[in-house]
Amino acid sequence: MFGEVNGMMRQLRRITDSRLAAPWKRRHSTAIRDVGQHDAYRDRGALPEPSVCRACRALFAGGRWTWETAPANAAQTTCPACRRIEDRFPAGFLTLSGAFLGEHREEIVNLARNRAELERQAHPLNRVATWEEADGEIRITTTDTHTPRRIAEAIHDAYHGELAFEYLDDDSVIRVRWAR
Ligand SMILES: [Zn+2]
Repeated sequence: MFGEVNGMMRQLRRITDSRLAAPWKRRHSTAIRDVGQHDAYRDRGALPEPSVCRACRALFAGGRWTWETAPANAAQTTCPACRRIEDRFPAGFLTLSGAFLGEHREEIVNLARNRAELERQAHPLNRVATWEEADGEIRITTTDTHTPRRIAEAIHDAYHGELAFEYLDDDSVIRVRWAR
């Protein structure tokens, strides 16, 4: 069982490493789905309860992940969000851009960070993975498909502008763009 899972993760990692060399150029592909991306990150029915993530201390109990304190007897695991971060395999991509962003960077960054933190507190698997600011853009990747929309919608509610999103890879990946 472990050999099989490890083999699958190695295979997945090889593919994602080459695929994520330029994550912003990533395109729809069926290759990822074929190696079992969904099962690899969702642990459907596979985890003992309670289990605690050795990296972030998120607790899996009662069929869900929370930030509650783990009991001493909890099994050790690595949660799907931490695995995505380790594997550099985000589920969400958000790009913020435009002249207005440049003029209001600090307040927009604060809004984005606050909204991401609310999401992380409510849903331990929904997190910012990377945050990069370059070429006048802010590029954020996340461990889930919800956080990019939550951030972008909060910014759009406050500042309007252009908001667009698309789901890729059988809805397992979201790409969101906001510009003003
Ligand atoms: Zn974790």
